Amino acid sequence: MFITQESSHQSQQPVWQQCLERIEDKIGPHRLETWFRTTNLSSTPEGNPCIEVPNQFLADFIEEHFCGIIQDALSDLGINAKALTFVPIKKEWTILKQQNEPIAEPYRIKPVKKLINTHSFHPDYTFDTFVVGESNRFAYATCLAVAEAPGKTSFNPLTIHGGTGLGKTHLLQAIGHFAHIEGTAENIVYITSQEFINQYINYVKNKKESETFYKKFSGVDLLLIDDIHFFSGKPSTQKEFYRIFNRLLLQNKQIVLSSDRAPETIPDMMEHIINRFMGGLITDIQPPNFETRIAILKKKAETDRISLPDQVVQFIASQVTSNVRELEGTLIRLIASASFNGKEITLEAAQEIFGDAMNRNQQRLTIQIIQKKVAEYFDITLNQIRAHTRKRNVAVPRNIAMYLCKKWTKQALRTIGLDFGGRDYSTVIHACKKIEADLLKDKVLSDQIKILDAVLKPLA
Ligand code: ADP
Ligand code: MG
Repeated sequence: MFITQESSHQSQQPVWQQCLERIEDKIGPHRLETWFRTTNLSSTPEGNPCIEVPNQFLADFIEEHFCGIIQDALSDLGINAKALTFVPIKKEWTILKQQNEPIAEPYRIKPVKKLINTHSFHPDYTFDTFVVGESNRFAYATCLAVAEAPGKTSFNPLTIHGGTGLGKTHLLQAIGHFAHIEGTAENIVYITSQEFINQYINYVKNKKESETFYKKFSGVDLLLIDDIHFFSGKPSTQKEFYRIFNRLLLQNKQIVLSSDRAPETIPDMMEHIINRFMGGLITDIQPPNFETRIAILKKKAETDRISLPDQVVQFIASQVTSNVRELEGTLIRLIASASFNGKEITLEAAQEIFGDAMNRNQQRLTIQIIQKKVAEYFDITLNQIRAHTRKRNVAVPRNIAMYLCKKWTKQALRTIGLDFGGRDYSTVIHACKKIEADLLKDKVLSDQIKILDAVLKPLA
């Protein structure tokens, strides 16, 4: 039986849940949801860890694509995962396991504190896997130039902006990846703005002053900050960011930023920060055109070694026009669904799956669609939106989602509560009241709701 090094520290979360959080950091919420939703951590009769999955296809797929990431996550938690196996759940020894004690739950360990992480880049987010088309050619070229010679081009700071799911994180990570592998920069930090904000807040809370926070970044050669629009309305974080930013620029260190909109349109952002952005290079990414969508689908299929008939590729590319994340998600759903049903991926199978989705769309906006859109916007998983955790980065989007469900669907509050992890309708009322009250005083929130309203309106 595998034992965690820290098993004497009891935390509230089962090991697999903690492991999934680490995996999510590496592969993102959407792939996590697709491939790991129905998995569980268990143990073989010999006491080695194993991952239970619903069928052989998934066992093979997950092993081939994610084995290393899972092993890393398990060993982070003190579990020796060298002999990790993947089993479809109907195997005989699951029955053996049932005769023994249940083993997944009792392993609770202390969560490891997250530090600013260097060199932990998503293995798939590289320049090689990025498909270049009209919509992103310039952004790609500037990112590559910066990765090849950080701090030595006039693209400093470099700011990439564009809608959600268009490849901003992919490009930022690709720069980090490239600079690390090619050795063009030594100390590389990739951090999301939310992590930056949290670390800053914690720092001030613990040290009671912010004087030395910038020192954490003092030796950094390449700083990649994702989603800086979340700095909006946070003046003290902005001040600290500005201080770090100026110091690094003075030393010719490279800074790359991403934002979901043009910097000058980010509300409540200090003017001198915006001016600094303007002093470097600002470039945007547009949604991919049909041709690029086809190229992206082909590349993904090739990477996953799945053969897709041209007709299917064209069909998906014509149906999904919004963004690359959606395109990728649709392809994954199609592959998963075909494999579950033991079918070939044919045009008919694709039409069948899409037919379902389209019919569902015609039934007006549903709670599930709203949950999905809100989760996407805040980059969290559907599970997190429905779960009971009170972490602020999840609790606020959840309240917003409940508020939007009340606003956009005709569902009873009781039904809404049920779809949010079986909550009582009074919780929904409370969430809606809170959002309504906050909306009057919180500009960031009201902007977020404005954007989400605009996303939902065409679907209603
Ligand atoms: P953003 O940060 O802009 O919201 P991401 O970088 O997370 O978007 O991209 C969403 C998904 O789409 C990722 O899996 C990413 O690899 C993929 N993706 C986006 N653009 C491209 C592209 N041009 N080529 C290949 N994959 C892409
Ligand atoms: Mg992103």
